[in-house]
Amino acid sequence: MQEQHALKVYKFGGASVRNAAAIRNLVEIVRQFGTDEHLLIVVSAMGKTTNALEDIFHRAYSALDYQEQLLALRDFHFTVADELFGATWQEEEAAAATVPGTVTLPGLLEQLSGQLATLVRGEYDRQYDQIVSFGELLATLIVARALEAEWLDCRPLVRTDFMWREGRLDWPTTERNIRALVPDLLRRGPVVTQGFLGGTASGQTTTLGREGSDFSAAIFAHCLQAESVTIWKDVAGLLNADPKIFANTVRFPEISYQETIEMAYYGASVIHPKTIKPLAVRRIPLYVKSFLDPTAEGTKIHDCRHESLAPAFIRKTGQCLVSFESKDLTFISEENLEVIFGALAQVRLKIHLMQNSAISFSVCTDFSAYRLEQLLDMLYEQFTIHYNTGLELYTIKNYDAASIQQLTEGRELLLEQRTRQTFQFVCRSTVKE
Ligand code: ASP
Ligand code: MG
Repeated sequence: MQEQHALKVYKFGGASVRNAAAIRNLVEIVRQFGTDEHLLIVVSAMGKTTNALEDIFHRAYSALDYQEQLLALRDFHFTVADELFGATWQEEEAAAATVPGTVTLPGLLEQLSGQLATLVRGEYDRQYDQIVSFGELLATLIVARALEAEWLDCRPLVRTDFMWREGRLDWPTTERNIRALVPDLLRRGPVVTQGFLGGTASGQTTTLGREGSDFSAAIFAHCLQAESVTIWKDVAGLLNADPKIFANTVRFPEISYQETIEMAYYGASVIHPKTIKPLAVRRIPLYVKSFLDPTAEGTKIHDCRHESLAPAFIRKTGQCLVSFESKDLTFISEENLEVIFGALAQVRLKIHLMQNSAISFSVCTDFSAYRLEQLLDMLYEQFTIHYNTGLELYTIKNYDAASIQQLTEGRELLLEQRTRQTFQFVCRSTVKE
């Protein structure tokens, strides 16, 4: 009979690998909690690396100088490696690099630099993915080495379509790929792989959307029928609000998949919205725990029922409110809405809130100058369009009178909406971005 081992998936986000000390802490957590099982570890880019890569990419694409930023990125990773592995790691990697197919830190940086140097204008989103994906590749190499674990390139396994920056998963192929390769690897010891990344059938890199590493952990857990997923974060679990923004937060010791999906949908940044469904359909529990206090209880997200939950507060910044009026002051009709929705989908602006009146229709979306300009180009002939930027969207889930009062006090609301469970409003931002 074959020995049965529980398979667990751990996900470590950017903050948990932001420097050498954080990576040592990760190693400690894995030694302490992850040794009895087969363990697959999904890792994001270190600290703010994804933002740095976005900046480098944007500069290179715009034919601006990026050497200083690229050098800073290289130094950052090399310094962490120096601290973790001692002064001789570069020589060891150089020796390893003589074996064909071996991926090394200097090798990756050379690839990155080469790709940046050959960028040509056009296909912005496709090229973005090829460059920004280096954050996860670099981080996982360092973490795998620190753990003496197997490094796995997820891109040939996690198959997506060609929707750059928001790759949509080909589940059957992904499941087949993962099941064919990963269980054997796991039998030999822990495996470290990238969050956020996927690959197309033709072998190009895709990304799954910002903060998409949680989703990656769920993809692997789903395909491997894992016993559980643990997301290690810098907060004590799933809280009713982001403690960096709101005072007096409370932790949910347990919460249902459904509630979590809704909170993530409204913008609670603790978990990527796509994470829950692949786990829920296979009833895989998701633990959210603090890497700063790993023995603390955290939150268990699973199939459960609760009485009333504490109101949850969610803020989305960087919003804009766009209103469309039909030019001839006729009513906003289904035909008009069809045109507006079609254009929004085409420029990939997601609607976070919408409201209509007789002659106008308003949507709250993320602000992107580039996408907004495309939208205006498409619709200006048919509609008079106004927009406000620099806004915030607040959602209170499971609201009560006191929570509404607390949040709206002293603010001018540009738009508000309430359903049985949620109260939402748009207002001017007080946050500098
Ligand atoms: N590194 C990516 C990001 O910062 C993915 C992630 O962190 O989940 O968006
Ligand atoms: Mg992150």
